[in-house]
Amino acid sequence: MNNQPLSFKYELEKKTPRTSDGGTTRGASVNDFPASAGIAGVSMRLQPGSMRELHWHANAAEWAYVVSGTVRTTIIHPDGSSYVDNFSEGDVWYFPKGYGHSIQATGTTECHFILIFDNGNFSEDHTFSVTDFVASMPPEIVAQNLGLSLEEVAALPKKEAYFAAGVVPDESSFVATPRPEIELTTPHRYPLHAQQPKVVPGGGTQRLVSAKEFPISTTMTGSVIELQPGAMREMHWHPNADEWQYYLSGQAEMSVFLAEATVVKEEFNAGDVGYVPMGAGHYIKNTGTTVCRVLIGFNSGRYESIDLSEWLSGNPADVVSTNFGLAEGEIEKLPAKKSFILPKK
Ligand code: MN
Ligand code: MN
Repeated sequence: MNNQPLSFKYELEKKTPRTSDGGTTRGASVNDFPASAGIAGVSMRLQPGSMRELHWHANAAEWAYVVSGTVRTTIIHPDGSSYVDNFSEGDVWYFPKGYGHSIQATGTTECHFILIFDNGNFSEDHTFSVTDFVASMPPEIVAQNLGLSLEEVAALPKKEAYFAAGVVPDESSFVATPRPEIELTTPHRYPLHAQQPKVVPGGGTQRLVSAKEFPISTTMTGSVIELQPGAMREMHWHPNADEWQYYLSGQAEMSVFLAEATVVKEEFNAGDVGYVPMGAGHYIKNTGTTVCRVLIGFNSGRYESIDLSEWLSGNPADVVSTNFGLAEGEIEKLPAKKSFILPKK
């Protein structure tokens, strides 16, 4: 038998997009990218004023990172409270599973954002849009529900709009939940790029947002890591979550270790997606000449990782020595503490 190992790479930005009314979307569910059983992702672009219409996801929460541009979202909670938030580059949002929301580009340039869903089976089949809901129900029901005549109901969209072209909203229209002052972090917005990163001199940085920093994000954690040329996020694994990656810039190599001598090594460029199943060992090394930036999403609100250096340095020297058959004196060469990111060797 010739068992070809799974690929952990999907060239998302090369996919033919769905486009209408100033919106463009490219998605990767487990159907497109078989390895990604636990997490799905979407790269979406909206022209100023264009809106991803009011909708909800029946089987997944939505976590997002704004790559460029500005955007306004609305969301309704089951307790009746509603929120309007504004986002710019480096901001994150989180919408719990099933909560109705919309996304509209503001400002004067295209807005690009990456959506990450905590279910690989996320798909349009499990996404419910308001125009589809209203167009699919008996007209007399809609008329009674919305206080419209049958003629007025007949003039509503006859099928799912998905995207809707509009005008850039006026700041004064942000009235769903008036807020007396601007807050840096709101129930749905976390300014990830404003966070002081963890810095490894000469190696790179990490910014991380879990439920600890962003309480509503109970099912997802996000991170942006930057690796200097030749630097490497060391060999590690995540005990509690799958990992979904979007390469924002630069280029990298990743190997995914699946036990029994099985390793899948692949090269990634900007716009590619990577995936690591829960528990599988992996590293990411910058193989380019510029900084490599990677957006990473995990399907747990708690961040956990075990890094090789930390593991080995946490064992008595004789255990490691015996395990690897190291002679006396060689053990001192190994890292004495967690490396996390290693500068170019
Ligand atoms: Mn959505
Ligand atoms: Mn990882």
